[in-house]
Amino acid sequence: MESLKPHAVLIPFPAQGHINPFLNLAKLLHFQGFHITFVHTEFNYQRILNSGGPDALSGLDDFRFETISDGLSPTSQRGIEDLQNMCITLPDHGRLSFRDLIVKLNASADVPDVSCIVSDGVMSFTVEVSHELGIPEMILFTPSGCAMLAYLHFEELKRKGYIPLKDDSCLTNGYLDTVIDWIPAMNGVRLKDFPSFIRTTDPQDIFLHHNFVSIHNSMKAKGIILNTFDELEQEVLDAIKTRFPVLYTIGPLSMLHQHVSLTHLKSIKSNLWKEDNECLKWLDAREHQSVVYVNYGSIITLTQEQLKEFGWGLANSKYPFLWAIRPDLLDGSDQFISNEFMDEIRGRGLLVGWCPQEKVLGHISVGGFLTHCGWNSTLESISQGVPMICWPFFGDQQTNCQYTCGKWGIGMEIDGEVKREKVERVVRELMEGVKGKEMRAKAREWRAKAEVATRPGGSSHTNFHMLVKDLFLS
Ligand code: UDP
Repeated sequence: MESLKPHAVLIPFPAQGHINPFLNLAKLLHFQGFHITFVHTEFNYQRILNSGGPDALSGLDDFRFETISDGLSPTSQRGIEDLQNMCITLPDHGRLSFRDLIVKLNASADVPDVSCIVSDGVMSFTVEVSHELGIPEMILFTPSGCAMLAYLHFEELKRKGYIPLKDDSCLTNGYLDTVIDWIPAMNGVRLKDFPSFIRTTDPQDIFLHHNFVSIHNSMKAKGIILNTFDELEQEVLDAIKTRFPVLYTIGPLSMLHQHVSLTHLKSIKSNLWKEDNECLKWLDAREHQSVVYVNYGSIITLTQEQLKEFGWGLANSKYPFLWAIRPDLLDGSDQFISNEFMDEIRGRGLLVGWCPQEKVLGHISVGGFLTHCGWNSTLESISQGVPMICWPFFGDQQTNCQYTCGKWGIGMEIDGEVKREKVERVVRELMEGVKGKEMRAKAREWRAKAEVATRPGGSSHTNFHMLVKDLFLS
């Protein structure tokens, strides 16, 4: 249907850390007058319905949800072990399903013709569809700028012979401590600070291959969007611009939200797990900045041993803590939580499954965040001025950790194997030590800078409006 209203189709990679920033962007674009089609996989659509109820997905006439197939078997749980499989099935199966969807939308009488596609860096196979159908496409990369810069250098690392690793001994013999000194804006970065996908000996590694293809495809898009802000990553962003000159830095997206009224879209949610809001009441009853909040995001899994060490480290610190343990967090089904542990933490430790993280981080009782350093979690912590204890696990978390601790001065790392003594020590240091105080002050400074960036006249606010204008004109 011809219409004056621009129609943006947004398609994130089907994982929580990708869906959330995409939904934030979709709501902001809707507020600017766009008709929105938000694309989930069939599997996630059902999960969001199950965890959030029908309201979560009942949009408006001009904010609709559609689905594509991810090509995996219906019985697969789409956990961490399926990420590789999705890198294979989505570019093939998902692309065809996406193409059918766009053709269907353009043939539909009750929605405007699709005027632009906003796709995910790791879903950038969609550029084939957009080129074929003559629709402009922008790419939202959901990682940080520093992680993106690291990804941009994977090819060069390969050309120079750093990766793939010669053999498994490289993982333990100090090889990963090698400093890479030839990447602008990444001075002092070690191989171990690169996204963990470099830790492979397989020249045909699926993640490495997917990364090369994603970057290559993204070059064909009209522009790149990043959920970060200039003041935080200026040098890194300047370096990225040499490869991607059309770059819109519009983060933190959730802070940009605060400056517009999106109440009519409030019920639209994207939680893949059922949210437990009771923990906010529990926080209400705690002292200001007394609680350690612990969450490992939506993908990673832990062994029972690791969980036990975290648990006893937290318990022994004697600080109150709110600990999110996703139903599928443990990589085995057995419970680690003993009666002895529950007795020990009674009255000062609360365990939840999935919580409203942004509200938790914004709660006055929270004094620190023990995180896996996913980019959304890191940015949400920065947005609330909360200092971090970092336990990066995989993917870009290593790079985020390095910047959080090394460059931004707002984190302390739990390096290597997790042990209860280490956890207890860093929690105490964060909550009562000199370093903790410095980090808290620094975190507040970054929050203030993020506030300025997202206010009218700030860098992210201005860039967002430039993006809107460019999408309108497309
Ligand atoms: N999240 C949440 N509740 C939880 C755990 C996570 O709302 O109990 C949200 C969190 O706010 C963030 C996203 O899920 O927006 C996780 O993304 P991140 O990039 O931090 O990590 P990932 O899940 O991709 O590893």
